[in-house]
Amino acid sequence: MQMKLFKKEEPQPIEVAGHELSCPICYNKLFWSRRAQMNSAVSSFFNLDWTDRTATCFVCSECTHIEWFLG
Ligand SMILES: [Zn+2]
Repeated sequence: MQMKLFKKEEPQPIEVAGHELSCPICYNKLFWSRRAQMNSAVSSFFNLDWTDRTATCFVCSECTHIEWFLG
Protein backbone atom coordinates (compact mmCIF):
# COMPACT_ATOMS: atom_id res chain seq x y z
CA MET A 1 0.00 0.00 0.00
CA GLN A 2 1.45 3.34 -1.05
CA MET A 3 0.34 5.27 1.99
CA LYS A 4 3.11 7.83 1.73
CA LEU A 5 1.68 8.98 -1.58
CA PHE A 6 -1.79 9.28 -0.15
CA LYS A 7 -0.66 11.25 2.88
CA LYS A 8 0.45 14.14 0.69
CA GLU A 9 -3.04 15.03 -0.37
CA GLU A 10 -6.17 15.99 1.45
CA PRO A 11 -8.95 13.40 1.35
CA GLN A 12 -12.19 14.71 -0.10
CA PRO A 13 -15.90 13.95 0.08
CA ILE A 14 -16.97 11.91 -2.95
CA GLU A 15 -20.32 11.90 -4.66
CA VAL A 16 -21.38 8.87 -6.73
CA ALA A 17 -24.63 8.90 -8.70
CA GLY A 18 -25.97 11.69 -6.54
CA HIS A 19 -25.09 10.04 -3.24
CA GLU A 20 -22.34 10.98 -0.88
CA LEU A 21 -19.93 8.08 -0.62
CA SER A 22 -19.39 6.80 2.90
CA CYS A 23 -17.15 3.99 4.00
CA PRO A 24 -19.10 0.80 4.83
CA ILE A 25 -16.49 -0.11 7.42
CA CYS A 26 -15.94 3.03 9.48
CA TYR A 27 -18.57 5.43 8.03
CA ASN A 28 -15.92 7.95 7.15
CA LYS A 29 -16.83 10.27 4.28
CA LEU A 30 -13.42 11.43 3.17
CA PHE A 31 -11.55 9.55 0.47
CA TRP A 32 -8.48 9.77 -1.66
CA SER A 33 -9.21 9.15 -5.31
CA ARG A 34 -7.09 7.30 -7.84
CA ARG A 35 -7.62 6.36 -11.45
CA ALA A 36 -6.14 3.03 -12.38
CA GLN A 37 -5.62 1.18 -15.61
CA MET A 38 -6.94 -2.35 -15.40
CA ASN A 39 -4.51 -4.78 -16.94
CA SER A 40 -5.89 -7.14 -19.55
CA ALA A 41 -5.64 -10.19 -17.30
CA VAL A 42 -7.84 -8.57 -14.70
CA SER A 43 -10.25 -7.27 -17.32
CA SER A 44 -10.65 -10.71 -18.84
CA PHE A 45 -11.12 -12.32 -15.46
CA PHE A 46 -14.00 -9.99 -14.67
CA ASN A 47 -15.28 -10.14 -18.24
CA LEU A 48 -14.66 -6.43 -18.64
CA ASP A 49 -13.21 -6.39 -22.11
CA TRP A 50 -16.06 -4.11 -23.16
CA THR A 51 -14.86 -1.33 -20.87
CA ASP A 52 -12.07 1.09 -21.48
CA ARG A 53 -10.24 -0.76 -18.71
CA THR A 54 -9.96 2.37 -16.65
CA ALA A 55 -11.22 2.21 -13.09
CA THR A 56 -11.52 4.78 -10.38
CA CYS A 57 -10.83 3.85 -6.81
CA PHE A 58 -11.58 5.79 -3.67
CA VAL A 59 -9.55 4.98 -0.60
CA CYS A 60 -11.04 5.66 2.81
CA SER A 61 -8.79 8.10 4.67
CA GLU A 62 -9.56 6.41 7.99
CA CYS A 63 -9.37 2.66 7.46
CA THR A 64 -8.02 2.52 3.86
CA HIS A 65 -10.97 0.46 2.65
CA ILE A 66 -11.04 0.75 -1.15
CA GLU A 67 -14.15 1.33 -3.23
CA TRP A 68 -13.76 0.59 -6.94
CA PHE A 69 -15.78 2.07 -9.77
CA LEU A 70 -15.47 1.26 -13.42
CA GLY A 71 -15.40 3.87 -16.09
ZN1 LIG B 1 -13.20 3.48 6.32
